[in-house]
Amino acid sequence: MADASETGNGNPFENAMKDMEKAGEIANIPLESLEVLKKPKRVLNVTYPVKMDDGKIKYFEAYRVQYNDARGPTKGGIRFHPNVNLDEVKALSFWMALKCAVADIPYGGAKGGVTLNPKEYSATEIERVSRGYMRAVHSFIGPMIDIPAPDVYTNPQIMAWMLDEYEKIEGKHVPAVITGKPVEVGGSKGRGSSTSMGGAYILRHMKDEMDMVPDNPSVAIQGFGNVGLNIANILSVWGGYKIVAVSDSKGGIYDKDGLDVKDVIAQKESKGTVVGFPGTKKITNEELLELDVDVLVPSALENQITKGNADKIKAKIILEMANGPVTFDADKILHKRGCVVIPDILANAGGVIVSYFEWVQNLKGFYWVEDEVLLKLEQMMIDAFKNVLEHVERFSTDYRTAAYILAINRILVAEQMRGSL
Ligand code: NAD
Repeated sequence: MADASETGNGNPFENAMKDMEKAGEIANIPLESLEVLKKPKRVLNVTYPVKMDDGKIKYFEAYRVQYNDARGPTKGGIRFHPNVNLDEVKALSFWMALKCAVADIPYGGAKGGVTLNPKEYSATEIERVSRGYMRAVHSFIGPMIDIPAPDVYTNPQIMAWMLDEYEKIEGKHVPAVITGKPVEVGGSKGRGSSTSMGGAYILRHMKDEMDMVPDNPSVAIQGFGNVGLNIANILSVWGGYKIVAVSDSKGGIYDKDGLDVKDVIAQKESKGTVVGFPGTKKITNEELLELDVDVLVPSALENQITKGNADKIKAKIILEMANGPVTFDADKILHKRGCVVIPDILANAGGVIVSYFEWVQNLKGFYWVEDEVLLKLEQMMIDAFKNVLEHVERFSTDYRTAAYILAINRILVAEQMRGSL
């Protein structure tokens, strides 16, 4: 995996600020107005102790960043990963603020993370890390303040432990404090695959309504977790898409005739990796990105396409299901080469949209059937896509810049209404 510092592409937060400045310049947004979005509103950096299975105490460093809350309580996932650091969490929280504005949901943006490699810990240790995180951030969050959710290497079970810890401290039920929960403790139907479903709706719209994607396009997907696995599954169940390559942290597999996604998922579930799937060629994550495919779907981590490999990317469309997979410099190279990048703050907004539905259901205590969730999700994703497209045309620019302009203007109007600008 390309590391930002090695490739000279800056850290994700610096990249995000460059994208914002570019959008500001194109849309003539006064520089003074952008100041409000150059720094997070609140940052929490904590270290907390957790008892390991062998009885020893280990300290974990963790973060919660609330970037901007002009449009509503802040919202964003919690990541468990060895590379979690403040700049990464700041970038992710900024993107959440923009994403919620692009999707037009009444939230600001936040993000959290714990620096650890979850694969090195037992389930009981992960439970104590999760509960410890909630105790550490408890007074910083709340249903009308800041609402966490899952992200890389966190899942509904971890959300349930965190919810339980929060409710124990509060002494009452507060399901709306966290989303991405199992349905049994107040989760929404459809949340598990909602991020992927949202991206798939956009891809289908581009293929069936706009002819931007050819029939039966070849698709390569990097990352086979919640987002990558589910989008592979959705596209293969729908039909009309040929998934030729997928990968996880151990490597990738390729079959030019298309993979049997159902069986690949079964192998991932039984063996923990897609690698070694019968009848496929083993490829690296780097090779997957450079395949000659119609659609590339990065669904793992940030900084995957950098100026070091951007000129080797052959895909015509990149659907950014991961956050920040393409760096600022790489974006320019891809744009010049005619590659259309559907940016993360639009492509993967389905997760936060259904998290919003979950929060609404929790606040009302009234739960929707899955068809209702999916119908509303599709409507909101396509509306967001159309709004971004309108900005692409109005400003003769790329999709990322257009999405930034749309989001920044919406946030700045809210700041203005509040008298902060
Ligand atoms: P996950 O933990 O479920 O899966 C991550 C996947 O990435 C795993 O398959 C893992 O093997 C793979 N991976 C890890 N390191 C890798 C590497 N070096 N090279 C290739 N693959 C690697 O996480 P997720 O929830 O699917 O999140 C993936 C991306 O989508 C992240 O960027 C996340 O921020 C973004 N995202 C997630 C959601 C959500 O609802 N879960 C919403 C919006 C955006």
